[in-house]
Amino acid sequence: MGTINLGKWHKLSAYQEKMEGNKVRCHICPHNCLVNEGGIGICKTRVNKRGVLYSLAYGNPCSIGIDPIEKKPLFHFLPGERIYSLATAGCNFRCLNCQNWQISQSSPNELDHYDLPPEEVVKSAIAHNTQLIAFTYTEPTVFYEYVYDTAQIAHEEGLRTVFISNGFINKQPLLDLCPYLDAANIDLKCFDDAIYRELDGGRLQPVLDTLKTMKEKGVWLEITNLLVPGYTDNPKMIEAMCNWLIENGFSDTPLHFSRFFPAYKLANMPPTQESILIEAKNIAEKAGIKYVYVGNIPSLHDENTYCSHCKRMIIERNGFNVERNHIQEGKCEFCKEPIAGVWE
Ligand code: SF4
Repeated sequence: MGTINLGKWHKLSAYQEKMEGNKVRCHICPHNCLVNEGGIGICKTRVNKRGVLYSLAYGNPCSIGIDPIEKKPLFHFLPGERIYSLATAGCNFRCLNCQNWQISQSSPNELDHYDLPPEEVVKSAIAHNTQLIAFTYTEPTVFYEYVYDTAQIAHEEGLRTVFISNGFINKQPLLDLCPYLDAANIDLKCFDDAIYRELDGGRLQPVLDTLKTMKEKGVWLEITNLLVPGYTDNPKMIEAMCNWLIENGFSDTPLHFSRFFPAYKLANMPPTQESILIEAKNIAEKAGIKYVYVGNIPSLHDENTYCSHCKRMIIERNGFNVERNHIQEGKCEFCKEPIAGVWE
């Protein structure tokens, strides 16, 4: 074949292994795709041209925005800050409930995009008066090289970086990226491998491995668990997930339960019942997780932060706005209990 048009924006793909017959194996994520000559990986971002793998997702973001950091969600990392956020097209998952399927299930060459090489991302973030950059909206693992180069330049310029991800990445690429990441929110979609495969086209164990690696490497971590009715809202499964988190040292890691809204291939399903979200929160707190949040239901007021010791409200949020912050030098202002997070 060899007739692929790589277009203006492409980059030699990292972690590739040449195989017989001009095939190439990609080792960025646990799919470890074997890509035939002229073929493309599951994520639709990596093509094999004449036996060499190239990323099509480099310097060509399809989405750029400036968001409150609370929207990621990150609640214990620089609350109230604004963060420059970007994504290219593509994803290594196939979530039936994807909210961004128009961009996540496309190849970068299929969509309109900005021309923005890594150094311009950093300049643009600074020009928009933010010191933070998030790789988000789609799955940043599939635009790994763009993330890596941008994050490296961002660190050189004193900016901090955030990775909002499904956590489905191989250990070596993750280890190499961690020095350039400051925080992450990882979607732990459920605690059942069969449901991971059916609902998301992924697997559980690699995501658990990512959580452990990021924690070991000192990346500030928060976890999101979306409760999809009939798939991921089983109380026994939520309990097993919370027990695993406690057993593996994640009691201080904020856990965000999120409400499902009908989307994409699950457009005909009802939203998650409020009672299920409340039950999930109770299960997590009973297991010993210190900071548990319920998103997407403003009336519950479960997006405030409470001191794990004196139980006073220490961050009051209204939507994505921070109304009050009673954390001083990383401690509760009232009882001086240290509060896990990055506060300045
Ligand atoms: S990054 Fe893409 S091409 Fe590489 S293994 Fe994952 S899905 Fe396959």
